[in-house]
Amino acid sequence: TGLFGPSAVTAYLEQVVEQLRDERGGAPSSSIPALEGADPECFGVVIATADGHVYEAGSTRDEFSLQSISKAFTYALALHDLGAEAVHAKMDVEPSGDAYNEISLQPGTGRPANPMINAGAIASTWLVPDSDRDLRRDRIREAYSRCAGRDLAISPEVLAQEHDAGDRNRALGYLLASAGIIEGDPTQALEDYFAQCSVLVTCRDLALMGATLANAGTNPLTGEEVFDAGTVSRVLSVMSSCGMYDDAGEWMVRVGLPAKSGVGGGIIAVLPGQLAVATFSPALDRHGNSVRGVLACERLSQDLDLHFTHTA
Ligand code: GLN
Repeated sequence: TGLFGPSAVTAYLEQVVEQLRDERGGAPSSSIPALEGADPECFGVVIATADGHVYEAGSTRDEFSLQSISKAFTYALALHDLGAEAVHAKMDVEPSGDAYNEISLQPGTGRPANPMINAGAIASTWLVPDSDRDLRRDRIREAYSRCAGRDLAISPEVLAQEHDAGDRNRALGYLLASAGIIEGDPTQALEDYFAQCSVLVTCRDLALMGATLANAGTNPLTGEEVFDAGTVSRVLSVMSSCGMYDDAGEWMVRVGLPAKSGVGGGIIAVLPGQLAVATFSPALDRHGNSVRGVLACERLSQDLDLHFTHTA
C-alpha cells in the first residue's frame, strides 16, 4: 500500500465493493437458520496492515458467526499450548481434496488429514486443555478476542442451532474417539467446537485477527503477543494448502495467499509480514466459500501485487 495515501486505499476498497456488488451468484449456507436468513446484500472488505493501519469499505461492522475460520485459530492455540509434535501426532497437514465435512480419517494412523477440515478441527478443539466445563471454550474465545483486539462473544442462538444441526460433526467426533485420536468421550469437545463456530465477529475483527497472523502472532494494535512466530508459520502453511477446502488449489492459483473461509461468509487472507485482507458476504459457492469474497480477494491480489509468485 506504499503507493497510496490512506484515503486512496479506502477509496480503492469502496470501488472494489461497488464493482463486485452486482455479483449475485451463490446462496447463504442452509446449514442452520441463522445463516440461511443472512442478508445476501451484505458485503464488506477490510485491509489491516501488520503495523496496525486499518482500511475498510462496505458492511464491515455487521456481526456474523466465525464458523470454520475458527479452525485456524484453535489450531494455533493447540500448537501454542502443546507444541507441534504433540499436535502432529493427532492430525496430519495434508490437503484432503474433500469437502470440509467429509467423514474420513487417514488409513493406518486414523488421523484427520489436516486441521482445516471438520475432523481435524474437532481434534484441535479437543486438544486445547480443559480442566473444567466451559473453561476450554472460554480459553478459545479469549484467544480469538486477543487476536481481534476486543472481547468477542459466543452467540447463544447460533450455538443452539449448531448443536441441533450437529449430527454429522458428532459422527466425526465418535469416529475420532474410535480411532483413539480423541481419548474418552467426545461430547464436550463437540460442544466446544460448536461454540467456537458460533463466535460473533465483524469483517473488521477478521482483518485484525489476520493482521495478528501477518505480524507473527502479535496483535498490531494492542501489541499483545497471542501466538509465537513458529506457531503462526505452521498455521499459515496449513492455511496455504488446506484453508479453502476442496478449492485450495484454485484459490492458490488465483489469489496466492494463505487463507481461511467460513460458511458464515467470512474470509481471511494473509500476506506474512505485510497485511491481512478480510471479506464478508454471505452467499457461498459450492465449496462453501463466499462468492464475492473470493472475487474481492482475487481483485486485491492482482491490483496490489499480493500473489506469492509475484516477482517484480
Ligand atoms: N459449523 C460448521 C460445521 O462445523 C462450520 C463449517 C464451515 O464453516 N465450513 O459444519
